[in-house]
Amino acid sequence: MRSTCKGKCNDMSEYETRAGNRGSFRLGYKRCKECEYFILCDGVRCPCCNGLLKSKPSNNTSRRKLREYNEKLRQVV
Ligand SMILES: [Zn+2]
Ligand SMILES: [Zn+2]
Repeated sequence: MRSTCKGKCNDMSEYETRAGNRGSFRLGYKRCKECEYFILCDGVRCPCCNGLLKSKPSNNTSRRKLREYNEKLRQVV
């Protein structure tokens, strides 16, 4: 089952949400990539789409993984 945005995130008075930037992770916000917002909550899943929330910013490790992934793509082509 795929998680999709149900539009609830536009009207969530129980949680604090923000459009945010990378600094929001430091404030404890988590990011839902499906709804494209930062949310302040204890759960690991988005109350709107039930998708997993990301609690850490892209760091060197994920950047390296992305590069490896791109290199792999180039090898295939
Ligand atoms: Zn949503
Ligand atoms: Zn969501």
